[in-house]
Amino acid sequence: MTSRPNGEPLVRLSGVDKWFGELHVLQDIDLEIGRGEVVVVIGPSGSGKSTLCRAINRLEPIDNGEITIDGALLPEEGKELARLRADVGMVFQSFNLFAHKTVLENVALGPVKVRKKPKAEADRRARELLERVGVASQADKYPAQLSGGQQQRVAIARALAMEPKVMLFDEPTSALDPEMINEVLDVMVGLAKDGMTMVVVTHEMGFARRAANRVVFMDGGKVVETAEPETFFTNPQSDRAKDFLSKIL
Ligand code: ADP
Ligand code: MG
Repeated sequence: MTSRPNGEPLVRLSGVDKWFGELHVLQDIDLEIGRGEVVVVIGPSGSGKSTLCRAINRLEPIDNGEITIDGALLPEEGKELARLRADVGMVFQSFNLFAHKTVLENVALGPVKVRKKPKAEADRRARELLERVGVASQADKYPAQLSGGQQQRVAIARALAMEPKVMLFDEPTSALDPEMINEVLDVMVGLAKDGMTMVVVTHEMGFARRAANRVVFMDGGKVVETAEPETFFTNPQSDRAKDFLSKIL
């Protein structure tokens, strides 16, 4: 469960606002994520879930409020931003692997370029991570030669290679054929059990029940409800959450 040795949550958003033109897409968001905590974010399409993830690693600038990672304010730009962004691993719905690099190169590249690791060490670590996500035998292939589930597991290994403090997953299984969903979710459950701090946008209730400490329900750019998974799924408080769950369950 959540442990906060130095009292500071690993990720803290306070009073975060974001507009796209007239659209108030994140509305006064307050959210704290403790070390080792797994938070599942759910909500209807367009409620701001992806924007929230992108704001957390500054792929998307915010208009108001503060976001800290491990106590450090995220700056808008510059070297410091690159370093802090490397603290936040991100896995998207589309696998986003480099098509012209092998699986091994995909995983080893970031540590060499950004973390300045020696290549041999980065390769060795990449092989360990590929082992961990169950695709070690694919190391020398190109992404297009892998199934969607395998590619997504490589994407997870690539993010882990940067040794992030927190991992963000934005609908990581939404683009997968049904029979591949569990192989990706199983890797994520393993990460959660190993103590990784995770923010996971997903409608996979099974994952939420197995791995999440908290569910955050978003609608219309707001955090409408926060609860433990079992409570949220069996006894949602807000009408909007009830309505949403009645459509997806
Ligand atoms: P979700 O991930 O919950 O489906 P998003 O965060 O992707 O929601 O989007 C929230 C709202 O912001 C939607 O109405 C979407 O159309 C809008 N939006 C997202 N990205 C942009 C953008 N780059 N420019 C303008 N509007 C955007
Ligand atoms: Mg989205």
